[in-house]
Amino acid sequence: METATPIQYLETTGRFCTCGCGRPYSVSKGVLQYGEGREVDFELALVSHADNDRHVWLALISGPWTDEDAGNCRVVIHGLPQDDRINARVEDLADSPWANVDLQGGRAISREEVMSNEPAKNWAFECFNDVVQYHKDVAAFLHADAGD
Ligand SMILES: [Zn+2]
Repeated sequence: METATPIQYLETTGRFCTCGCGRPYSVSKGVLQYGEGREVDFELALVSHADNDRHVWLALISGPWTDEDAGNCRVVIHGLPQDDRINARVEDLADSPWANVDLQGGRAISREEVMSNEPAKNWAFECFNDVVQYHKDVAAFLHADAGD
């Protein structure tokens, strides 16, 4: 049986954490298909700081949100792995690994703006859940041995 994946992988790049730990982490760019033939670009950063402190960061890069938006809009969701699930929280871009990213004329949607918009909030968490469930790198990241 073939299992269709809703994720198209574009490229994965390596970066170094700027929190002070300096550890390498990967950022995977791709496209998530969801709903009725819809899709959204994403970037997934799997960050593991010292002491096995793991974080799943997802940026959803959608089209304009309002008439004033001239470019793509970006929503950031932060996942904190727990024992058997991931606690997800929408965050401001400034608190994410993309704090210094060039938005190229686009706009970062604030946590407040997402959380006050029920459809946007549901969309963000549904996309996050899909990426966490289907992305090929997440399971290994969550279940890697604690190590050093
Ligand atoms: Zn770090």
